[in-house]
Amino acid sequence: MTVKTSEPKQEDYFPLDQIPNLVDSLREVYQSGRTRPLDWRLSQLDGLLRFLKERQNEILQALQTDLGKPRFDALVAEVVGVELDLVHVKKNLRRWMRPEKKSTPVIHWPGKSSIHKEPLGVVLIIAPWNYPLQLCLGPLVGALAAGNTAVVKPSEVSPATSALLERHLPNYLDPSCVKVVQGAVPETSRLLEQRFDHILYTGNGKVGRIVMKAAAEHLTPVTLELGGKSPVIVDSSADLNLTAKRIVWGKFFNCGQTCVAPDYVLAEESIHDALLERMGLAVKKFWGKDPKHHSQYARIVNKRHFRRLMGLLDGGGDVVCGGYGDEQDRFLAPTILSNVPTNAAIMEEEIFGPILPVLSVESTNAAVDFINSRPKPLALYLFSESDQIQHNVLTSTSSGGVVLNHCMLHNLVPDLPFGGVGESGMGAYHGKASFDTFTHRKSVLEKPLGWDAFILYPPYSKRITKLSEGIVKAWRFLRPS
Ligand code: NAD
Repeated sequence: MTVKTSEPKQEDYFPLDQIPNLVDSLREVYQSGRTRPLDWRLSQLDGLLRFLKERQNEILQALQTDLGKPRFDALVAEVVGVELDLVHVKKNLRRWMRPEKKSTPVIHWPGKSSIHKEPLGVVLIIAPWNYPLQLCLGPLVGALAAGNTAVVKPSEVSPATSALLERHLPNYLDPSCVKVVQGAVPETSRLLEQRFDHILYTGNGKVGRIVMKAAAEHLTPVTLELGGKSPVIVDSSADLNLTAKRIVWGKFFNCGQTCVAPDYVLAEESIHDALLERMGLAVKKFWGKDPKHHSQYARIVNKRHFRRLMGLLDGGGDVVCGGYGDEQDRFLAPTILSNVPTNAAIMEEEIFGPILPVLSVESTNAAVDFINSRPKPLALYLFSESDQIQHNVLTSTSSGGVVLNHCMLHNLVPDLPFGGVGESGMGAYHGKASFDTFTHRKSVLEKPLGWDAFILYPPYSKRITKLSEGIVKAWRFLRPS
């Protein structure tokens, strides 16, 4: 398979000097109240569903151009992934929007307490290139469901998908409320100078810090969906054939360019060699002896990333399979490494490509110590039949999410908030979490005007002060300890 190359085109980028006006226009529409009604929100979600259905072929073609994404992978991970979320949000939105009743303490009687859900206003969504459709539209589902106007800034590294979004989204969504801004660093930087009411950024932590600094200027809250090194622990009780198959699938899906791809494996030493052998067999079973010519193996996004990955192979251990590539075709073979030094470059930075180091550890406790000595990962995977070990790993490690006995699939459960912790990010979205991320929960206490607690107002006479001290004393006596 040879993949077409699509280069970013400067002439497609949004004019820098028009960015402030664009954000102002979104604020004006937001302030008109247009985006608040349930019907408007539902019509936008329907528009996104129609876009995914009617433009499916063009979407899959764009993803093929940008990343050589196999049709099946693109359909499941990008199109259906967003559709699942859309259907779930549509079904529940009316209920989520309702005010929530809360209890009111006796001292506030008569009175009613509730939480009202209001949109934040104008939000900015900045997306990366690896799932260029899903990572623009997933957050947008939440932003629109919550009644906001939005700027979507797709990645310049995946230009075919970015151009498709800019061309077609205005025909499916309210064009005065959603704007797609194509561009690179200057355009994103100009956007970040504007005042937004929330920014959801997905990408690497270095730029995450730039986004957070810029947001601080306006006290804008941020959700940072970052990456990191997501470990896999395999203990000796796991079924090795199935484990090998699942790890190989998760690692090499989208050529390893997935934020929650297994980054490295910590295998108990008693099963380390057998696991390596089964993983090698799984690679052959999935993509044959010549993955380069297999129609279902994706490509590295660009030559810069190809060279970065080839560089990581130097001093990164022994090649069990793969280890070769073709820069012109952006092809890098599914590669498994063993005997990897723990201080090798490949064990320091997020790999984000089809290279999988497998390290041997004495026990799952040693694996836990290894993981805990590093920044908190976005995902952690454990393959084990033992309830005790599952419990120990769950309670003694911290990560954005965990899957027991599989990889990556938590990402497709709309009711599970998706996000990182520590270095892997802050905040979360998907399903209800997306609605909550883009919603302000406004506390409301409602008092009748007819009756008043005279004790509240000065001047406080000796009698009133004594009375209130008595009330406090009685309350302390009666309250549950
Ligand atoms: P990228 O290069 O496409 O950058 C992401 C966005 O940031 C782009 O829109 C880009 O225009 C903008 N950007 C880049 N440099 C900038 C700068 N100096 N100032 C302002 N904006 C700038 O994507 P990437 O960062 O290479 O993405 C890969 C990373 O994203 C990996 O670390 C991966 O783990 C992470 N990721 C996380 C998730 C998640 O959901 N947590 C999902 C996908 C990817």
